[in-house]
Amino acid sequence: MRRAVYPGSFDPVTNGHLDVIERAARQYDEVLVAIAHNEAKTGLFTFEERVALLREAVQQHPNVQVTQFQGLLVDYARSVQAQVILRGLRAVSDFEYEFQMALMNRKLDSDVETMFLMPKEEYTYLSSRLVKEIARLGGDIGAFVPDCIARALRAKFAATDSAPSRKP
Ligand code: ADP
Repeated sequence: MRRAVYPGSFDPVTNGHLDVIERAARQYDEVLVAIAHNEAKTGLFTFEERVALLREAVQQHPNVQVTQFQGLLVDYARSVQAQVILRGLRAVSDFEYEFQMALMNRKLDSDVETMFLMPKEEYTYLSSRLVKEIARLGGDIGAFVPDCIARALRAKFAATDSAPSRKP
């Protein structure tokens, strides 16, 4: 059983993440998309919202599961008997951080291998941060995220915009 863990914040999941997940689903028997649960780091979407959105976005892949982890990633990988940590590489700018993380994780547990997958070229410029920024400014995000995420982003910003603003 070849099991891989794909960790991240997924705030929210984009077509770039999904491209990586699809590639991984073809290579591994089971892919656990693991959302990092970090109390100190609040995103646009709550942790529960990110789990629900990700589940909806990957539902067509029977061998992909959405899970969560807290603490050290290598401990989580070991606890679920995953041999591989997956990360996506978009551009040279991702490389330094990812390289450092991969080597650090190897130091912590030499049995878990980090593997990198590159998305389709058209997704290499995509990030959750940019998608959120475009959605916040009312831009069209249809090409960057699946429909369920685009709807959730629109609803999130509509709710934020209609919230009563505090007087200065
Ligand atoms: P993190 O906070 O761990 O960077 P992200 O949710 O932003 O979490 O990303 C999770 C993983 O997916 C990282 O390896 C990141 O490099 C990768 N990733 C993010 N966006 C893309 C994309 N457009 N194409 C391919 N990989 C991506």
